[in-house]
Amino acid sequence: MTGSGTILNAVVLPMTAESHIIRGGYVTVRDGVITGMGAGAPARIEPGWLIDAHDTVLMPGLVNAHTHLYQVLLRAIWEDIPLFPWLRKIYGAAQALLPEHFYAGTLLGCLESLKGGVTTICEHNFLNPNPDCAPETVRALRESGVRSVFARTIMDTGEIVPNCVKEKPDAAFKLVESIVGGARKTFSETQTRKLSFMTGPNTPPINASPELLRQLRAFADSNAIGISAHVAESASVLDYVRQHCSAPGVVAYLRQFDIPGDNTIFAHSVHISLEEIQLLKQTGTSVSHNPVSNMMLGDGVAPVREMLAEGVNVALGTDGAASNHSQDMFETMKAASLLQKVHHRDPGVIDPYSVLKMATVGGARALGLSDLCGTIEEGKRADLILVDIHAPHIQPVNHLFSQLVHCAKSTDVSTAIVDGCLLMKNREMLFLDEDRIVAAAQASNGHLLRRIEEKGI
Ligand SMILES: [Zn+2]
Repeated sequence: MTGSGTILNAVVLPMTAESHIIRGGYVTVRDGVITGMGAGAPARIEPGWLIDAHDTVLMPGLVNAHTHLYQVLLRAIWEDIPLFPWLRKIYGAAQALLPEHFYAGTLLGCLESLKGGVTTICEHNFLNPNPDCAPETVRALRESGVRSVFARTIMDTGEIVPNCVKEKPDAAFKLVESIVGGARKTFSETQTRKLSFMTGPNTPPINASPELLRQLRAFADSNAIGISAHVAESASVLDYVRQHCSAPGVVAYLRQFDIPGDNTIFAHSVHISLEEIQLLKQTGTSVSHNPVSNMMLGDGVAPVREMLAEGVNVALGTDGAASNHSQDMFETMKAASLLQKVHHRDPGVIDPYSVLKMATVGGARALGLSDLCGTIEEGKRADLILVDIHAPHIQPVNHLFSQLVHCAKSTDVSTAIVDGCLLMKNREMLFLDEDRIVAAAQASNGHLLRRIEEKGI
């Protein structure tokens, strides 16, 4: 589904250059594509929706480069637990999770995301106790209207991974191929790339064998899909790779298997060396920085300053709600900014425009979508949000970029458009039934928690 329309009188932030701000600007959209933009009035009003944005900020929709949406059902369930024991719970939940939980949770996660200005989501999928879990997640992503990348990853080993989600590489590859191939045949969204795919090892090396890693790059390339993985999230993973794999770090280890690459996104990358940052740069690998999750699990602080200084592409992600506990990318932007400042004890270490770029341009590039979204430019798909800057917690505006990062809240997003389709106007969802989705998720949450308790997870 695409759409057409015109936005007038906006403060347009194309995110193509810091100095590029169009006040009193317009953007026109036809069949999902941006057809015009500039100051003043357009030569032609496109048929479809017409929005007078009267000094509201019009910017590219935010890109959440790493999350697990079903985990909204597990918000605040397992708190105050370090990564390994926490993962034992998260993986253990596979014994209780049913396809219907993935559907209900993913739809609620999409609703929360769209209402917070997120128009593109990378859903990193790693628990598949049942072959219907992944398709049900994809169904919810499609129904929501959000642009999505579904990263169907694989676990084939690991002491803390229940057998029901351990897969033999060959069998897993067949399942991934069937999801990707089936979608490419069936869904028109795959042609417009509203839905695209990745694969990957989930959390190498703790749940990915050398045998799996040896085959993954060729498998991804043969299916023309990228790779997503959790990398060096905690010091415990670094200890593991040093003890069990004789490698100096996780990135260095993955390099042996040709996993880094320009269609690869490494979530976290907290415990990586300067040499590994060079490896990321040389291979064109992107990183999803997930500051709130890192703080919640006490993982540490990712070397964002160093990665940006070296020219590594850094995106932003919330991670799943079991370690965040929201899907709020405005909160994530503020956390990304403040965490670097306090870590380096230097308030000038990162500037707000760079943070906004990570949440837009950087995310689109990390997911292989730079030609479609991440900026407002003629010819790109219209993934746009309007942010109301009139609220008392934002006014008066002295530094627009800083105030979008440090003052604005996700609830200030009034309008969300994906592929030209107006999905939310004045905070009202036009296609999704908000009450029904929340009620269904509440029921699903109760059902899932009962199953978790019954199984002693
Ligand atoms: Zn994650």
